Order: sequence, then C-alpha cells, then structure tokens
Amino acid sequence: MLEIDGLDVHYGGVHALRGLSLGVAEGEIVALLGNNGAGKTTTLSAVSGLLRPSGGEVVFDGKTITREKPHRITARGLVHVPEGRRIFSTLSVHENLQLGGYLVRDQAEIRTRIERVYELLPRLAERRAQQGGTLSGGEQQMLAIGRALVTGPRLLLLDEPSMGLAPLVVASVMELIAGINAQGTSVLLVEQNAVAALAIAHRGYVIENGECVLDGPAAELRRDSRVVEAYLGGV
Ligand code: ATP
Repeated sequence: MLEIDGLDVHYGGVHALRGLSLGVAEGEIVALLGNNGAGKTTTLSAVSGLLRPSGGEVVFDGKTITREKPHRITARGLVHVPEGRRIFSTLSVHENLQLGGYLVRDQAEIRTRIERVYELLPRLAERRAQQGGTLSGGEQQMLAIGRALVTGPRLLLLDEPSMGLAPLVVASVMELIAGINAQGTSVLLVEQNAVAALAIAHRGYVIENGECVLDGPAAELRRDSRVVEAYLGGV
C-alpha cells in the first residue's frame, strides 16, 4: 500500500533521512521506532507532502506521490495526525470533528462519519460542545485521531500519540488505534514508547540517524536484544 524507497531529506546542512526505505501493507500496523532526532517525524512529513525530499520516492497504491501537494495526498486517503495533537483549542469538539471533513463535499457523509466517531469514542460524544482546549491530554489525542477519521483515511500516519500521557491513557489510545485498524484502516505509527507500539503493531522498523537499522515482525523486535537494550529499558 505504501512504499518508501531510498528517501533523502536535508534541512540545510542536516542530512535527516539517508536513503530510508520501508513499507506498509494493506491492513497492517507498522511501528516506526527510534530515539529523539532519528528522523521519525521527518519521515511522516515527507510522506504526507509537508516536506519535499531531496531524493527517493514515495508510492501509495501504486502511484508516485513524492511531489504531490499535501491536500491531494490527504484526498487519496493518507491522513497525517501530527505530533502535539494540534486541535483547535477555542473550537468545540464537534467543530473540530467537522473540520476533519474539509475535503468532503457531501455534508450527509460528514455527519455519518462524525456519528461513527462518537460511537467509537463516547467520551467525545458526551463532550461534543466542550472547547477542545479544555479536554484532557488523552481526550485531545482521541479528538485528533477522531478528526482524522472524519477525513476518511485508508492509511493513518500517527506521530507519537502516546506523548505526555499517563500509562493507563496510553493503553486506551493504543486500544483505539488497534480498533481502528481492525475495522480496515492501515497505520504507520511513530512512537518513542516502543513497548506500547510493539504491543499493537504487526511489524516495526528501527531508525537511527535517518537510516533503518533493524526491521521485522513486532514479536521478534520485542525479543531482539538490541531493541530491548535501546528502547525497552533493558528489561
Ligand atoms: P523526535 O522523537 O524528537 O520528534 P524524530 O525522530 O521525529 O525525533 P525528526 O524530528 O525527524 O526526528 O528530526 C530528524 C533530524 O532532523 C534531527 O537531527 C533534527 O534536528 C533535524 N530537523 C528536524 N526538523 C528540522 C528543521 N525544521 N530544521 C533543521 N533541522 C531539522
């Protein structure tokens, strides 16, 4: 479904991605792991068109999207939920969800999608009139994911959904992601929390300095001594 092939990104003199290649198959959750500055966020931004790579290719559903505009990439069903949630804090929960439908012309379709989000996330339904900025961190993350669902993703790009959340809340966000995947949406999940990500992922890649250093089924990565030492706290 998604193929990233030999991707290079430079920020001025910083070579942030160095020939990175990875793939996501239909129906998969793929974890992208790595330390601070490894290039995880850069990878997602290059895929969703927010950054222009200096080399390499991104192919989605057999089409090269490397130089497409972000809204065109989104319209293909590749929806990016950036780090830090970025919900509209002065708008209500419901208005935030409506904004997820900005590329959808059919208003009835938007309403149906929002109702589906409320069924999946009753906490949001109860808070539909509440201002986004007054939600808890976990609720804001759920709203950011809910808004992406209204956009109609076939592949969700999630950037550190666990960031700043308490362990129990992380667990419920991961459960939400697994549930969305079970209903047919593929996921590329960037995480520093390798334990949480590998618990729900099918496969994973570990990147360091913009290069892939390890990849494999999640169950194997969980047992790999290099992953355990570097990302799972040596346990
Ligand atoms: P984190 O987990 O801390 O978000 P990351 O793996 O997502 O890290 P990136 O944000 O992709 O890492 O950064 C990769 C490298 O590119 C880092 O060395 C970073 O300093 C650099 N970088 C990222 N954005 C910019 C920018 N706008 N200008 C210059 N350098 C940047």
